[in-house]
Amino acid sequence: MKEKNNNSGSIKNGGVIAAAALIIIIFAAALFFNGGKKGNNISEGVSTNAGSGTDRSESGKNVKKSGKKGNEPLVGSEFALDTAITVMLYDSDNQEILDGALALCSKYENIFSATFPESELYKLNHRTTQTVKVDSELAYVIDRGLYYSKLSGGAFDITIEPVKKLWDFKAEKPSLPDEGKLSEALGKVGYENVEVNQDTVTFKDPDTSIDLGAIAKGYIADRIKEYLVERGVKSAIINLGGNVLCIGRKPNGSDFVIGLQRPFSESVFETIVVNDISVVTSGVYERYFTYNGKNYHHILNPADGYPYDNGVLGVSIVCKNSIDADALSTTCFSLGAEKGIELLDSIPDAYGFFILDDYSIKYSKGTEDLIAK
Ligand code: ADP
Ligand code: MG
Repeated sequence: MKEKNNNSGSIKNGGVIAAAALIIIIFAAALFFNGGKKGNNISEGVSTNAGSGTDRSESGKNVKKSGKKGNEPLVGSEFALDTAITVMLYDSDNQEILDGALALCSKYENIFSATFPESELYKLNHRTTQTVKVDSELAYVIDRGLYYSKLSGGAFDITIEPVKKLWDFKAEKPSLPDEGKLSEALGKVGYENVEVNQDTVTFKDPDTSIDLGAIAKGYIADRIKEYLVERGVKSAIINLGGNVLCIGRKPNGSDFVIGLQRPFSESVFETIVVNDISVVTSGVYERYFTYNGKNYHHILNPADGYPYDNGVLGVSIVCKNSIDADALSTTCFSLGAEKGIELLDSIPDAYGFFILDDYSIKYSKGTEDLIAK
């Protein structure tokens, strides 16, 4: 039986009227900093949606900032990690701290991107030896990725990269990958072929390559939090394209209110009330294309190379560290509702909402306690 530690204060209901007001304020701020247009990946302010990967993009462009006014947060937004990034500081008006937080996204893109030729991961994937000493943060994230690959029995697999690169979800005229290339790429997938020992990564197969799109944004959010907390910030929201991490509570002591996006819609299906916790969503409705009337999304089944088709439209995970929330959202999506809920019920303080294709919702144990009443 899973227990929830209410004394920790990490999860709490209440303050709904004040909460509703807050979500509107945040919504307005996000729209303003998007220049009045909806971003591709962030929906409403701190709504979490299915986001994107860590493909190299036009990082660092379009930085938009606000001055802090009264109780409103100091907000910085930019496009990085192939998605829209927003950091909101509620108890600091220090622009330098905000800029430093946003700058971390570019720093980490240069480590974790699978597509940027200068990145540490790209170099590792294009290695010439089977054993490589790597950046310690890269080694750590690969190790955590291998942990979740094992935990899921390979439904989540960070060596999906050869398959992933055959799918182009941004193409103007999308098409399905060539069958022959897909089956060749599938032969290269297998997390068992990678080992991490401290900062050394060893590959048993020269053709193995790694994609950290399912886990890196969570790690980066955790590092941004650490950076902010070290500088005295006690109240903030980090939103990396729907990968949300809240620091503490609002300065008035009330909890943060986060809307979970209804798939293929701009509305919210559930509103949760939380503090000092991460909320991350994986789903079929952000990075996808439609071909011959069928949805092809970006979470790929290592068994056949095609997007998972298991009746799940989206999974939102709530847990303390963003790296775990991010990895678990993709893992639980991959496992499907039944096995995903079984897994979450076995992990202390990890909670999940599963939206199924009939738009019904399933919850892991304790999850319903998070919903705003
Ligand atoms: P996002 O990061 O886009 O919000 P996810 O965290 O669910 O969404 O990660 C999806 C990304 O994970 C894909 O874009 C791809 O880079 C990678 N990926 C796809 N299929 C798998 C899989 N079976 N196991 C691990 N990673 C995957
Ligand atoms: Mg993920």
